[in-house]
Amino acid sequence: MTTPLTAPQFPEWPQYDDAERTALVRALEQGQWWRMGGGEVDAFEREFAAFHGGGHALAVTNGTHALELALQVLGVGPGDEVIVPAFTFISSSQAAQRLGATAVPVDVDLGTYNLDPAAAEAAITPRTKAIMPVHMAGQIADLDALGKISERTGVPLLQDAAHAHGAEWRGRKVGELGSVAAFSFQNGKLMTAGEGGLVLFADEEGRDHGFLRHSCGRPPTDIRYLHATSGSNFRLNEFSASVLRAQLARLGSQVETRERRAALLAPLLAAVPGVVPQSRDERATRVPHYMAMFRVPGIGEERRNALVAELVRRGLPAFVVFRAVYRTNGFWETGAPALSVDELAERNPNTELIHSEGIWLHHRTLLADEDAVRAIPGIIAAALESV
Ligand SMILES: *Cc1c(COP(=O)(O)O)cnc(C)c1O
Repeated sequence: MTTPLTAPQFPEWPQYDDAERTALVRALEQGQWWRMGGGEVDAFEREFAAFHGGGHALAVTNGTHALELALQVLGVGPGDEVIVPAFTFISSSQAAQRLGATAVPVDVDLGTYNLDPAAAEAAITPRTKAIMPVHMAGQIADLDALGKISERTGVPLLQDAAHAHGAEWRGRKVGELGSVAAFSFQNGKLMTAGEGGLVLFADEEGRDHGFLRHSCGRPPTDIRYLHATSGSNFRLNEFSASVLRAQLARLGSQVETRERRAALLAPLLAAVPGVVPQSRDERATRVPHYMAMFRVPGIGEERRNALVAELVRRGLPAFVVFRAVYRTNGFWETGAPALSVDELAERNPNTELIHSEGIWLHHRTLLADEDAVRAIPGIIAAALESV
């Protein structure tokens, strides 16, 4: 390959400046580096909840633990079932499986890649203890329909909001949506301290329960080792929280930039022959754009993989999408339904297509200047012709 490549410039991720530097030194000089002695985790929780319109925040070690803890507070345990999208990052199902529950994969919408409410309702059994919509790439799942199903059946929702920092649904922020939501601050996420997570509870009771479980069952003021519940140590440290406060302060303007760039990219991407971008639900009034996703219908998994390699060669930070959860070995180790892969594939036709035809671009592409964003569709069109 000797084709000269003039790749557009995309900003690096993660981003930081003197705000993070100052924050880290501030945490250091407190002299107490865990949440029980310092003030950074407490302040971060207050600021994160305020930014998301309310709710009761509990910071934790990572997004996977956030899901696990939230499910535990919802009462999920051995023998229970949790409905998860078949198309998601594996943590959604793993969190349920770690608690001894069965993860029940349900199909997603072929446009939005979000949990299909009718399919979710059809999968409810007397053992179902939670429904976990994932806000794929930052677009809130259909919480109108899912909320009604939850009310009708009494099965609570747990929002996997690992992609949805700063998202809004019909003008309402995540903290105003009435159900518990779990966030991730892993290195690639929309705000990050390398690792980290947070559960946004709808009520203080849930947060208090979560606090006990995330701190070995120990009440906040305990000095006598009176462990009130079982639990584990999911506490976030002060350094991470200090960095996350600085990251949160930058989130709003970054979301605005990505919304503007996404509005520029969407019609150009849709005009590339063979490309079908993830569609936007018009009720999603603010999308933070964790990824720019699209499908190439009919391409097949092997050629899709070659296309991603070609996009990377041409300077685009492109990736294959998540695998259908049931098409990983990890899914089958514990807490899988009594169905075969083929049976699950038959029940999840949209997931099957996205799994083999989907591609995503890193959100830093949407923080680039307009010229770089305008160059993306041309790169994809050229790459498609060469694979
Ligand atoms: C990243 C991610 C998680 C887990 O977050 P970690 O902080 O990496 O544990 C959960 N769900 C989804 C959909 C994710 O993308």
